[in-house]
Amino acid sequence: MIPYATIEEASIALGRNLTSLETLWFDYSATKSDYYLYCHNILFLFLVFSLVPLPLVFVELARSASGWFDSYKIQPKVHYSLSDMLKCYIDVMKMFIFVVGPLQLVSYPSIQLIGIRSGLPLPSLSEIVAQLIVYLMVEDYTNYWVHRFFHSKWGYEKIHRVHHEYTAPIGYAAPYAHWAEVLILGIPTFMGPAIAPGHMITFWLWIALRQLEAIETHSGYDFPWSPTKYIPFYGGAEYHDYHHYVGGQSQSNFASVFTYCDYIYGTDKGYRFQKKLLEQIKESSKKSNGGIKSD
Ligand SMILES: [Zn+2]
Ligand SMILES: [Zn+2]
Repeated sequence: MIPYATIEEASIALGRNLTSLETLWFDYSATKSDYYLYCHNILFLFLVFSLVPLPLVFVELARSASGWFDSYKIQPKVHYSLSDMLKCYIDVMKMFIFVVGPLQLVSYPSIQLIGIRSGLPLPSLSEIVAQLIVYLMVEDYTNYWVHRFFHSKWGYEKIHRVHHEYTAPIGYAAPYAHWAEVLILGIPTFMGPAIAPGHMITFWLWIALRQLEAIETHSGYDFPWSPTKYIPFYGGAEYHDYHHYVGGQSQSNFASVFTYCDYIYGTDKGYRFQKKLLEQIKESSKKSNGGIKSD
């Protein structure tokens, strides 16, 4: 809710004319309550959960039919049918209706408490980017330790086992988890905004970005053209795929976004060993294939 009745009033309060984006925001949000604006996250999450993994469904089906994209699939022996992926989506939607949505509806007081603002002026682009980077780093660090707890005997058997049902992840499986895990992982997601509270728009972007990142890391595909390849210390799909591939015994690759926590705490040794081994095998098979051709 914006505490000005008109754009003129807002301009006088800010001591300048509103930018075109601020005018748009005024027109949209002036008469809406902060609670209603906060609940927009339910729609955004529904759209992200439903639409973002959809291209990966077509990629998976095309691969099964023709072998296209096979070289990008991290676990190429695994094929998912349309009904497999539909089942995963339905399971995720059940969790969305019964856990994610209600959590958004009741968590508004925490947003009020930390002081997420919805008024004017709007944050600058640099402020939004800086806050999103802080949120990513705080989430990554906190999630790392929560995830390690989930891999304790109790945490795994009682809660985290559900997320690991997909030993070869697919996009729709990113939020596929026990309801308790969904609730607990809300804490790392919320921690960044609690430390550095920003504007409601930044909060919307953060909630969407967090899910986009999770869908990418669970895509099951390592596309060389992914722009995330240019982000320093970014884990990505191949990194998290290994965590699922190793499964319940996995004491490796716990981090959700970056690789440095696993490096610092020594929980990426198995992954690095296997990666090196695979590269050596690839290299020697290239050499032996080259030898056959030249004969
Ligand atoms: Zn895990
Ligand atoms: Zn996962």
